[in-house]
Amino acid sequence: MSFVFSEKPIELTAGAGVHLYDTNDTAYLDLGASYGCMPVGHSHPTVVDAIATQTATLQFAHASYPTAIRDTLIERLCDLSPIDHTNCWLANSGTEANEAALKFARSATGATKIIAAHRGFHGRTMGSLSVTWKPKYRVPFEPMLEDVEFVPFGDGEALEAAVDDDVAAVILEPIQGEGGVRQPEGSYLSLARKVTAEHGAALILDEIQTGLGRTGTFWACASADIEPDIITSAKGLASGLPIGATLCADWIAAGVQSHGSTFGGNPVVAAAACATLETIMTEGLTAHEAHIGKALRSRVEAEVAAVTDVRGKGLLIGIDTEHPATEVLQQLALEHHILAMAAGRQTIRLLPPLTLEDEHVEQFVTGLDATLTATEVVR
Ligand code: PLP
Repeated sequence: MSFVFSEKPIELTAGAGVHLYDTNDTAYLDLGASYGCMPVGHSHPTVVDAIATQTATLQFAHASYPTAIRDTLIERLCDLSPIDHTNCWLANSGTEANEAALKFARSATGATKIIAAHRGFHGRTMGSLSVTWKPKYRVPFEPMLEDVEFVPFGDGEALEAAVDDDVAAVILEPIQGEGGVRQPEGSYLSLARKVTAEHGAALILDEIQTGLGRTGTFWACASADIEPDIITSAKGLASGLPIGATLCADWIAAGVQSHGSTFGGNPVVAAAACATLETIMTEGLTAHEAHIGKALRSRVEAEVAAVTDVRGKGLLIGIDTEHPATEVLQQLALEHHILAMAAGRQTIRLLPPLTLEDEHVEQFVTGLDATLTATEVVR
Protein backbone atom coordinates (compact mmCIF):
# COMPACT_ATOMS: atom_id res chain seq x y z
CA MET A 1 0.00 0.00 0.00
CA SER A 2 1.23 3.47 -0.84
CA PHE A 3 0.61 6.58 1.24
CA VAL A 4 1.69 8.93 -1.55
CA PHE A 5 -1.37 10.95 -2.53
CA SER A 6 -0.86 11.24 -6.29
CA GLU A 7 -4.55 11.40 -7.15
CA LYS A 8 -4.09 13.77 -10.09
CA PRO A 9 -4.18 12.16 -13.55
CA ILE A 10 -1.22 14.08 -14.99
CA GLU A 11 2.35 12.81 -14.70
CA LEU A 12 4.71 15.77 -14.58
CA THR A 13 8.10 15.60 -16.23
CA ALA A 14 9.37 19.18 -16.51
CA GLY A 15 8.76 22.78 -15.56
CA ALA A 16 9.82 26.14 -17.03
CA GLY A 17 8.57 29.56 -15.98
CA VAL A 18 4.81 29.46 -15.41
CA HIS A 19 4.43 26.10 -17.17
CA LEU A 20 4.60 22.44 -16.18
CA TYR A 21 4.89 19.65 -18.78
CA ASP A 22 3.56 16.08 -18.83
CA THR A 23 4.82 12.89 -20.45
CA ASN A 24 3.36 13.99 -23.83
CA ASP A 25 5.09 17.37 -23.56
CA THR A 26 1.73 19.11 -23.08
CA ALA A 27 2.24 22.48 -21.39
CA TYR A 28 0.04 23.26 -18.37
CA LEU A 29 -0.34 26.80 -17.04
CA ASP A 30 0.62 26.47 -13.35
CA LEU A 31 -1.77 28.71 -11.45
CA GLY A 32 -1.50 26.80 -8.20
CA ALA A 33 -0.57 23.20 -8.74
CA SER A 34 2.79 23.89 -7.17
CA TYR A 35 0.95 25.02 -4.03
CA GLY A 36 2.57 28.45 -4.02
CA CYS A 37 6.09 26.98 -3.96
CA MET A 38 7.39 28.55 -7.18
CA PRO A 39 7.23 32.36 -6.75
CA VAL A 40 9.87 33.04 -9.41
CA GLY A 41 8.63 30.27 -11.71
CA HIS A 42 9.89 26.79 -12.50
CA SER A 43 13.64 26.31 -13.03
CA HIS A 44 14.50 30.01 -12.90
CA PRO A 45 18.13 30.21 -14.19
CA THR A 46 19.37 32.16 -11.14
CA VAL A 47 17.99 29.51 -8.79
CA VAL A 48 19.18 26.60 -10.93
CA ASP A 49 22.72 28.06 -11.10
CA ALA A 50 22.80 28.71 -7.35
CA ILE A 51 21.76 25.13 -6.55
CA ALA A 52 24.24 23.61 -9.04
CA THR A 53 27.15 25.74 -7.83
CA GLN A 54 26.42 25.07 -4.17
CA THR A 55 25.97 21.32 -4.73
CA ALA A 56 29.35 21.15 -6.45
CA THR A 57 31.03 23.13 -3.66
CA LEU A 58 29.56 22.08 -0.31
CA GLN A 59 26.52 19.86 -0.61
CA PHE A 60 25.80 19.40 3.07
CA ALA A 61 26.90 20.65 6.46
CA HIS A 62 25.08 19.85 9.67
CA ALA A 63 23.29 22.78 11.26
CA SER A 64 25.83 22.80 14.12
CA TYR A 65 28.57 24.09 11.72
CA PRO A 66 28.44 27.69 10.50
CA THR A 67 28.47 28.23 6.72
CA ALA A 68 28.69 31.48 4.77
CA ILE A 69 25.65 30.67 2.64
CA ARG A 70 23.43 30.05 5.68
CA ASP A 71 24.68 33.28 7.26
CA THR A 72 23.81 35.15 4.05
CA LEU A 73 20.30 33.71 4.04
CA ILE A 74 19.76 34.59 7.70
CA GLU A 75 21.02 38.13 7.06
CA ARG A 76 18.66 38.56 4.08
CA LEU A 77 15.65 37.23 5.97
CA CYS A 78 16.41 39.44 8.97
CA ASP A 79 16.75 42.47 6.68
CA LEU A 80 13.34 41.72 5.16
CA SER A 81 11.69 41.00 8.51
CA PRO A 82 9.18 43.46 9.98
CA ILE A 83 10.48 42.57 13.45
CA ASP A 84 13.05 44.89 15.02
CA HIS A 85 16.25 42.89 15.87
CA THR A 86 15.10 39.69 14.17
CA ASN A 87 16.47 36.26 15.10
CA CYS A 88 16.10 33.46 12.57
CA TRP A 89 15.57 29.72 12.97
CA LEU A 90 15.75 27.51 9.86
CA ALA A 91 13.90 24.22 9.39
CA ASN A 92 12.63 22.09 6.53
CA SER A 93 8.91 22.77 6.10
CA GLY A 94 6.09 25.09 7.04
CA THR A 95 4.76 22.84 9.74
CA GLU A 96 8.20 22.73 11.40
CA ALA A 97 8.49 26.51 11.24
CA ASN A 98 5.18 26.72 13.12
CA GLU A 99 6.18 23.96 15.58
CA ALA A 100 9.21 26.05 16.44
CA ALA A 101 7.07 29.18 16.76
CA LEU A 102 4.72 27.46 19.24
CA LYS A 103 7.63 25.99 21.24
CA PHE A 104 9.47 29.32 21.32
CA ALA A 105 6.33 31.21 22.45
CA ARG A 106 5.70 28.74 25.26
CA SER A 107 9.27 28.82 26.53
CA ALA A 108 9.56 32.62 26.29
CA THR A 109 6.27 33.32 28.09
CA GLY A 110 6.13 30.38 30.50
CA ALA A 111 2.44 30.15 29.56
CA THR A 112 0.83 27.28 27.66
CA LYS A 113 -2.47 28.35 26.12
CA ILE A 114 -2.61 28.99 22.37
CA ILE A 115 -5.38 30.88 20.59
CA ALA A 116 -5.96 29.97 16.93
CA ALA A 117 -8.64 30.80 14.38
CA HIS A 118 -11.58 28.99 12.85
CA ARG A 119 -10.60 27.84 9.33
CA GLY A 120 -6.88 28.41 10.09
CA PHE A 121 -4.29 26.03 8.60
CA HIS A 122 -0.82 25.72 10.10
CA GLY A 123 0.46 22.24 9.19
CA ARG A 124 0.15 18.56 9.96
CA THR A 125 2.69 17.70 12.66
CA MET A 126 1.16 17.38 16.13
CA GLY A 127 1.80 20.94 17.39
CA SER A 128 0.85 22.74 14.18
CA LEU A 129 -2.05 20.33 13.68
CA SER A 130 -3.36 21.18 17.15
CA VAL A 131 -3.82 24.80 16.02
CA THR A 132 -5.22 23.81 12.60
CA TRP A 133 -8.99 24.13 12.62
CA LYS A 134 -10.45 21.59 10.19
CA PRO A 135 -11.72 18.64 12.28
CA LYS A 136 -11.09 16.26 9.34
CA TYR A 137 -7.33 16.84 9.70
CA ARG A 138 -7.24 16.74 13.53
CA VAL A 139 -9.85 14.35 14.90
CA PRO A 140 -8.35 11.02 13.69
CA PHE A 141 -5.11 11.84 15.52
CA GLU A 142 -6.48 13.11 18.83
CA PRO A 143 -5.62 13.86 21.55
CA MET A 144 -4.01 17.07 20.32
CA LEU A 145 -2.06 19.61 22.40
CA GLU A 146 -4.04 20.65 25.42
CA ASP A 147 -4.87 24.30 25.95
CA VAL A 148 -5.78 25.36 22.42
CA GLU A 149 -8.85 27.56 21.86
CA PHE A 150 -10.27 28.41 18.45
CA VAL A 151 -11.99 31.77 17.89
CA PRO A 152 -13.90 32.99 14.81
CA PHE A 153 -11.39 34.53 12.36
CA GLY A 154 -11.83 38.29 12.02
CA ASP A 155 -13.99 38.66 15.16
CA GLY A 156 -12.14 41.21 17.30
CA GLU A 157 -14.43 40.87 20.31
CA ALA A 158 -14.01 37.09 20.45
CA LEU A 159 -10.24 37.49 20.25
CA GLU A 160 -10.18 40.08 23.03
CA ALA A 161 -12.31 37.85 25.24
CA ALA A 162 -10.05 34.81 24.66
CA VAL A 163 -6.67 36.40 25.41
CA ASP A 164 -5.65 36.59 29.08
CA ASP A 165 -2.42 36.24 31.08
CA ASP A 166 -2.40 32.42 30.61
CA VAL A 167 -2.00 32.76 26.85
CA ALA A 168 1.42 31.99 25.34
CA ALA A 169 0.50 32.92 21.78
CA VAL A 170 -2.11 33.88 19.25
CA ILE A 171 -1.39 32.30 15.85
CA LEU A 172 -3.04 33.72 12.72
CA GLU A 173 -2.64 33.82 8.95
CA PRO A 174 -2.94 37.48 7.81
CA ILE A 175 -5.12 36.16 4.96
CA GLN A 176 -6.37 32.58 5.32
CA GLY A 177 -5.34 30.48 2.31
CA GLU A 178 -6.53 26.89 2.71
CA GLY A 179 -9.48 28.23 4.76
CA GLY A 180 -11.02 29.84 1.66
CA VAL A 181 -8.85 32.92 0.92
CA ARG A 182 -10.38 35.05 3.69
CA GLN A 183 -9.11 38.47 4.62
CA PRO A 184 -10.10 40.06 7.95
CA GLU A 185 -11.14 43.72 8.36
CA GLY A 186 -8.17 46.09 8.39
CA SER A 187 -8.06 46.63 12.15
CA TYR A 188 -8.12 42.93 13.14
CA LEU A 189 -4.37 42.34 13.04
CA SER A 190 -3.71 45.60 14.91
CA LEU A 191 -6.14 44.48 17.59
CA ALA A 192 -4.41 41.08 17.77
CA ARG A 193 -1.13 42.97 18.25
CA LYS A 194 -2.61 45.14 20.99
CA VAL A 195 -4.26 42.39 23.07
CA THR A 196 -1.29 40.03 22.91
CA ALA A 197 1.07 42.83 24.00
CA GLU A 198 -1.26 43.74 26.88
CA HIS A 199 -1.16 40.17 28.21
CA GLY A 200 2.50 39.35 27.52
CA ALA A 201 1.56 36.80 24.85
CA ALA A 202 3.35 36.33 21.52
CA LEU A 203 1.67 37.24 18.24
CA ILE A 204 2.64 34.60 15.67
CA LEU A 205 1.85 35.44 12.06
CA ASP A 206 1.93 32.46 9.73
CA GLU A 207 3.01 34.01 6.41
CA ILE A 208 3.80 30.65 4.82
CA GLN A 209 1.23 31.24 2.09
CA THR A 210 0.93 35.04 2.17
CA GLY A 211 4.60 36.04 2.39
CA LEU A 212 7.41 36.49 -0.19
CA GLY A 213 5.58 39.23 -2.08
CA ARG A 214 2.47 37.22 -2.91
CA THR A 215 -0.01 39.85 -1.72
CA GLY A 216 1.64 42.99 -3.14
CA THR A 217 4.02 43.63 -0.24
CA PHE A 218 6.81 41.31 0.86
CA TRP A 219 4.79 40.30 3.98
CA ALA A 220 1.00 40.56 4.03
CA CYS A 221 1.14 42.06 7.54
CA ALA A 222 2.79 45.20 6.08
CA SER A 223 -0.66 46.55 5.23
CA ALA A 224 -1.59 46.45 8.95
CA ASP A 225 1.71 48.15 9.82
CA ILE A 226 2.32 45.93 12.85
CA GLU A 227 5.37 44.17 14.25
CA PRO A 228 4.57 40.57 15.19
CA ASP A 229 6.73 38.70 17.74
CA ILE A 230 7.14 35.72 15.43
CA ILE A 231 6.66 35.34 11.70
CA THR A 232 6.91 32.05 9.82
CA SER A 233 7.80 31.43 6.18
CA ALA A 234 8.21 28.32 4.00
CA LYS A 235 6.65 27.13 0.70
CA GLY A 236 8.34 29.16 -2.06
CA LEU A 237 11.21 30.49 0.03
CA ALA A 238 13.68 28.06 -1.59
CA SER A 239 11.74 27.62 -4.89
CA GLY A 240 10.39 24.19 -4.01
CA LEU A 241 13.33 22.86 -2.00
CA PRO A 242 12.25 21.98 1.56
CA ILE A 243 12.62 24.92 3.93
CA GLY A 244 10.92 26.63 6.85
CA ALA A 245 11.95 29.82 8.64
CA THR A 246 10.87 31.12 12.04
CA LEU A 247 11.76 34.79 12.52
CA CYS A 248 11.39 36.10 16.05
CA ALA A 249 12.02 39.06 18.32
CA ASP A 250 14.84 39.16 20.89
CA TRP A 251 12.54 38.46 23.85
CA ILE A 252 11.32 35.25 22.16
CA ALA A 253 14.81 34.08 21.14
CA ALA A 254 16.13 34.73 24.64
CA GLY A 255 13.67 32.17 26.02
CA VAL A 256 14.64 29.33 23.65
CA GLN A 257 16.52 26.74 25.65
CA SER A 258 16.89 23.91 23.19
CA HIS A 259 15.73 23.15 19.68
CA GLY A 260 17.47 21.51 16.72
CA SER A 261 17.30 20.14 13.19
CA THR A 262 19.74 18.02 11.18
CA PHE A 263 18.87 19.53 7.80
CA GLY A 264 17.67 23.04 8.74
CA GLY A 265 19.70 25.77 6.99
CA ASN A 266 21.67 23.26 4.89
CA PRO A 267 23.86 24.83 2.18
CA VAL A 268 21.99 23.77 -0.98
CA VAL A 269 18.59 24.86 0.31
CA ALA A 270 20.10 28.07 1.69
CA ALA A 271 21.61 28.83 -1.74
CA ALA A 272 18.24 28.23 -3.43
CA ALA A 273 16.55 30.53 -0.90
CA CYS A 274 19.14 33.32 -1.35
CA ALA A 275 18.68 33.12 -5.12
CA THR A 276 14.89 33.13 -4.80
CA LEU A 277 14.89 36.20 -2.53
CA GLU A 278 17.38 37.99 -4.78
CA THR A 279 15.18 37.29 -7.82
CA ILE A 280 11.99 38.49 -6.11
CA MET A 281 13.72 41.72 -5.09
CA THR A 282 15.78 42.47 -8.22
CA GLU A 283 13.09 41.60 -10.77
CA GLY A 284 10.50 43.81 -9.01
CA LEU A 285 8.12 40.85 -8.77
CA THR A 286 6.15 42.20 -5.82
CA ALA A 287 5.04 45.30 -7.73
CA HIS A 288 4.44 43.23 -10.89
CA GLU A 289 2.23 40.68 -9.17
CA ALA A 290 0.21 43.37 -7.34
CA HIS A 291 -0.66 44.76 -10.78
CA ILE A 292 -1.29 41.45 -12.57
CA GLY A 293 -3.27 40.09 -9.60
CA LYS A 294 -5.59 43.09 -9.73
CA ALA A 295 -6.05 42.64 -13.48
CA LEU A 296 -6.82 38.95 -13.04
CA ARG A 297 -9.41 39.57 -10.31
CA SER A 298 -11.19 42.34 -12.17
CA ARG A 299 -11.28 40.40 -15.47
CA VAL A 300 -12.75 37.32 -13.75
CA GLU A 301 -15.36 39.51 -12.03
CA ALA A 302 -16.28 41.33 -15.23
CA GLU A 303 -16.10 38.51 -17.77
CA VAL A 304 -17.02 35.22 -16.07
CA ALA A 305 -20.75 35.41 -15.37
CA ALA A 306 -20.95 32.17 -13.36
CA VAL A 307 -18.53 33.44 -10.69
CA THR A 308 -20.25 34.46 -7.43
CA ASP A 309 -17.31 36.04 -5.57
CA VAL A 310 -13.65 36.88 -6.15
CA ARG A 311 -11.47 37.42 -3.06
CA GLY A 312 -7.84 37.88 -2.13
CA LYS A 313 -4.92 40.16 -2.66
CA GLY A 314 -2.12 40.20 -5.22
CA LEU A 315 -1.69 36.66 -6.51
CA LEU A 316 -3.45 34.85 -3.64
CA ILE A 317 -6.91 34.61 -5.17
CA GLY A 318 -10.09 32.74 -4.25
CA ILE A 319 -12.92 32.39 -6.76
CA ASP A 320 -16.36 31.15 -5.66
CA THR A 321 -18.71 29.53 -8.14
CA GLU A 322 -21.93 27.51 -7.88
CA HIS A 323 -20.04 24.53 -9.28
CA PRO A 324 -18.16 21.75 -7.43
CA ALA A 325 -14.51 22.84 -7.24
CA THR A 326 -13.16 19.32 -7.88
CA GLU A 327 -15.03 19.07 -11.22
CA VAL A 328 -14.06 22.58 -12.26
CA LEU A 329 -10.39 21.85 -11.50
CA GLN A 330 -10.48 18.58 -13.45
CA GLN A 331 -12.05 20.26 -16.51
CA LEU A 332 -9.62 23.16 -16.31
CA ALA A 333 -6.68 20.74 -16.23
CA LEU A 334 -7.80 18.23 -18.84
CA GLU A 335 -9.61 20.49 -21.34
CA HIS A 336 -7.77 23.80 -20.93
CA HIS A 337 -4.39 22.72 -19.51
CA ILE A 338 -4.65 25.01 -16.50
CA LEU A 339 -3.69 23.75 -13.03
CA ALA A 340 -5.26 25.36 -9.95
CA MET A 341 -6.32 24.29 -6.44
CA ALA A 342 -9.43 24.18 -4.27
CA ALA A 343 -10.01 26.07 -1.02
CA GLY A 344 -13.43 24.74 -0.08
CA ARG A 345 -16.21 22.85 -1.88
CA GLN A 346 -16.94 25.63 -4.38
CA THR A 347 -13.82 27.79 -4.18
CA ILE A 348 -10.97 27.75 -6.70
CA ARG A 349 -7.64 28.98 -5.29
CA LEU A 350 -4.84 30.49 -7.39
CA LEU A 351 -1.24 30.75 -6.15
CA PRO A 352 0.69 31.19 -9.42
CA PRO A 353 4.31 32.23 -9.93
CA LEU A 354 4.65 36.00 -9.44
CA THR A 355 5.96 36.21 -13.01
CA LEU A 356 2.48 35.71 -14.51
CA GLU A 357 1.73 37.85 -17.60
CA ASP A 358 -1.40 39.21 -19.33
CA GLU A 359 -1.48 36.38 -21.90
CA HIS A 360 -1.78 33.86 -19.03
CA VAL A 361 -4.61 35.86 -17.48
CA GLU A 362 -6.35 35.74 -20.88
CA GLN A 363 -5.94 31.93 -21.08
CA PHE A 364 -7.35 31.50 -17.57
CA VAL A 365 -10.37 33.79 -18.02
CA THR A 366 -11.32 32.06 -21.29
CA GLY A 367 -10.74 28.58 -19.83
CA LEU A 368 -12.71 29.29 -16.63
CA ASP A 369 -15.66 30.76 -18.52
CA ALA A 370 -15.82 27.74 -20.86
CA THR A 371 -15.46 25.31 -17.94
CA LEU A 372 -18.23 26.89 -15.88
CA THR A 373 -20.53 26.93 -18.91
CA ALA A 374 -19.87 23.18 -19.36
CA THR A 375 -20.14 22.13 -15.66
CA GLU A 376 -23.41 21.57 -13.79
CA VAL A 377 -24.13 23.79 -10.79
CA VAL A 378 -24.35 22.31 -7.27
CA ARG A 379 -27.97 21.91 -6.10
N1 PLP B 1 0.83 27.25 7.13
C1 PLP B 1 0.17 27.62 6.03
C2 PLP B 1 -0.55 28.94 6.02
C3 PLP B 1 0.15 26.79 4.90
O1 PLP B 1 -0.52 27.16 3.81
C4 PLP B 1 0.85 25.56 4.95
C5 PLP B 1 0.83 24.63 3.80
O2 PLP B 1 0.00 24.68 2.94
C6 PLP B 1 1.53 25.21 6.13
C7 PLP B 1 1.50 26.08 7.19
C8 PLP B 1 2.27 23.91 6.23
O3 PLP B 1 3.38 23.91 5.40
P1 PLP B 1 4.10 22.53 5.00
O4 PLP B 1 3.16 21.79 4.11
O5 PLP B 1 5.37 22.96 4.31
O6 PLP B 1 4.37 21.80 6.26
